[in-house]
Amino acid sequence: MKASRERPAATPARPDVQEVITRRIADAIADRRLPPGTKLTEERLAAIFGVSRARVRGALATLSQRGIVTLRPNRGAFVATPSVTEAREVFEARRVVERGLVPRLCRNGAGLPPAAAARLRAHLDKEAAAEAAGDRKAMIRLSGEFHLLLADLAGNATLGTFLDGLVRRSSLVIAAYESRPTPGCSADEHRHIVDALAAGDGAAAERLMDDHLHAIEDRLTLEDRAADAIDLRAVFDAA
Ligand SMILES: [Zn+2]
Repeated sequence: MKASRERPAATPARPDVQEVITRRIADAIADRRLPPGTKLTEERLAAIFGVSRARVRGALATLSQRGIVTLRPNRGAFVATPSVTEAREVFEARRVVERGLVPRLCRNGAGLPPAAAARLRAHLDKEAAAEAAGDRKAMIRLSGEFHLLLADLAGNATLGTFLDGLVRRSSLVIAAYESRPTPGCSADEHRHIVDALAAGDGAAAERLMDDHLHAIEDRLTLEDRAADAIDLRAVFDAA
């Protein structure tokens, strides 16, 4: 049974198109081409992607469910600006999830399988190359991918999907609260984590992962921004 929602005749149902738009907007947010607070105008996005506004609306609704877009009644869609509380929660959730991946990767002290170690080392080389070239956009993308690669190698797709959402939200948090432009992750710290995983030293890998995620959080200025922090009711009630 079809829902009775109206669909413009010119736009046949092509769910993959909406997925593509969703991913393109999500990627632009992840690599910070669209910073927190950016207005996402349906009409303009529809024109840019050559699709109906309904498709764009669907994509924005999906992104809103993932916590990276905020829908405001009568005002439209905006790239989400995470609150300080949400920012801390996202990093706390990442520490729980990513420490949890370590035992699977360390395999009871046997360490990473050689193919997994090779993939991680190849990734570290790409991070180092991006850092050497000063390619900030690549550094941001590769930083996030490192963590998702660990989830992938740990072989738990459910945790991988969950972590993908958390990594995207932490990218927004970094964009909203970085005190100076940083890629978020330090390639050196990633290398130390891989060394511990390769050696099968789970305790060290968990500690290094925990330290790494704390270090990213510590590089941020997690204070409510002045303009957002002003409580209008308090302002007018006091008058
Ligand atoms: Zn990292």
